[in-house]
Amino acid sequence: MSDGYTGLKGYPPKGTALYGKGLFSLLPVVMQPLSRGTVHINATNLLGKPIIDPNYLSNEYDLQAAIAAIKKCQQIATTPPLSEVLDSEYGPGLNNVNTDDEWKNFVLNTTLTIYHPVGTYAILPRKAGGVVDSKLKMYGTRNLRIVDASIMPVLISAHLQTAMYGIAEMAAKKVREIEQARIELRGFDVSKDSVVALFIDCYLGFFDQ
Ligand SMILES: Cc1cc2nc3c(=O)[nH]c(=O)nc-3n(C[C@H](O)[C@H](O)[C@H](O)COP(=O)(O)OP(=O)(O)OC[C@H]3O[C@@H](n4cnc5c(N)ncnc54)[C@H](O)[C@@H]3O)c2cc1C
Repeated sequence: MSDGYTGLKGYPPKGTALYGKGLFSLLPVVMQPLSRGTVHINATNLLGKPIIDPNYLSNEYDLQAAIAAIKKCQQIATTPPLSEVLDSEYGPGLNNVNTDDEWKNFVLNTTLTIYHPVGTYAILPRKAGGVVDSKLKMYGTRNLRIVDASIMPVLISAHLQTAMYGIAEMAAKKVREIEQARIELRGFDVSKDSVVALFIDCYLGFFDQ
């Protein structure tokens, strides 16, 4: 893999002798990390970029899973038949990383994201920290839906894009159904009858629940 590939910290760096020369990478990924980060408005610049802290590897499970995954890659690379076609290991380097602390430091200093953030508006019960219900409606609002990767409470064991298309299709169907109901109800002349208007408002509020 070339220098700078997502998830790799330039192995080996561009411009060095080994760059692009007969190397290959085993790239392990912690598929369902438990670490949780934060996204906040920047209080000193409300229109500026939000303050994002992904808090990678803050959960001990993620750290241990990443260490176990790299050790497994090393085991695969040092076991025939793969070991028979390999000369040496570039990183972390055989016997360079041995103790628990060394493994921990290696992981903390080399692990990068593959950019699949989720969960800031998780579809969960409110008391469990959820932000939207099973119809993607934000708790405490009458008709505000969230439709993006933020509603996934945990990462799926795959890339996100296709699942996101599926979620968007389901949300679009729901919104179409609601709009259709609104159009049918508008058969009443709302402008002339405030009681009917009030009824429709109440009904739609209930319907949107
Ligand atoms: C580098 C990288 C590589 C990836 N590789 C893959 C891959 O190989 N396969 C895969 O399945 N997934 C991949 N992903 C993940 C995938 O792209 C995302 O998970 C997915 O796009 C999330 O969809 P979304 O709708 O939540 O957000 P986005 O796709 O980010 O959509 C948000 C949209 O909102 C718009 N927007 C933002 N603010 C405003 C505003 N104020 N007003 C109006 N519009 C606004 C943005 O312009 C954007 O179009 C990758 C992500 C990255 C960053």
